[in-house]
Amino acid sequence: MSENALSVWSVKYGERVVRKSDVFHDYASYGLPDGDLDMDYNFWVVRDGETVMLVDTGYDIPKRDWLGEISVTPTPRGLEILGIDPAEVSMVVTSHYHYDHIGYLGLFTNAKVVSGRAEHDYWFAKEAADELDGEFSTPDDLAAVHRAEEEGRLILVDEPTEVYPGITVYPVGGHCPGELLTRIDTASGGIILTVDAAHFYEQIEHEWPFFAFTDLDEMKAGLSFINELAKQTGATVVPGHDGRTRDRFPAAPGAAGEIATVLA
Ligand SMILES: [Zn+2]
Repeated sequence: MSENALSVWSVKYGERVVRKSDVFHDYASYGLPDGDLDMDYNFWVVRDGETVMLVDTGYDIPKRDWLGEISVTPTPRGLEILGIDPAEVSMVVTSHYHYDHIGYLGLFTNAKVVSGRAEHDYWFAKEAADELDGEFSTPDDLAAVHRAEEEGRLILVDEPTEVYPGITVYPVGGHCPGELLTRIDTASGGIILTVDAAHFYEQIEHEWPFFAFTDLDEMKAGLSFINELAKQTGATVVPGHDGRTRDRFPAAPGAAGEIATVLA
């Protein structure tokens, strides 16, 4: 474990309610009753003293509510409440390039951007072939990645990589070709942010695939890997979109408590 006392907050910018049968792949085969799940839309803030880093950035829901997402606190306002100047964010890890994860990436003009090489190559190939219609990423989303690349701020990883002391990213496929899991060393034993490699707690507990995937076998392998990594490191696994995270961890202090949860 690193000597850094890294803190990790999750910040909720949007929400919607989903049915289990809509989000878990082949849910009927489990023979369980259906039910609602609170689906949160988050980004994550990692602090090391004065250094501020993010995992993902959220997106502008009112501009385009793809699936009926409801805006809670747009990212720029959320950053303001948290006292974060986007120009001072030093690194953004992109879990993957779906709209709800990199929509506001362009705000962070000085940040190193860390992405999975497989994710980058997949979406840039689709864009070059003019195949983004109806996809989970748009030319607008990818423009911020292009800019980071042109400015020499883009770091592409294709194997487990410590991108900052105490922050390690692990590429996994499944939901998309190059998702990054982020493991953060903390005073409380570490946090694994699965983001969309596991949206909900059930997916970790039972290794249930999500309905949206580019490769089902890779997704299953990714879920096993998450549990293996947790076992090896003793870190706590935090799924990317599960509203119950807010019941399991305390709210942030002060005004930030309305949107932010302290994971470590
Ligand atoms: Zn997502």
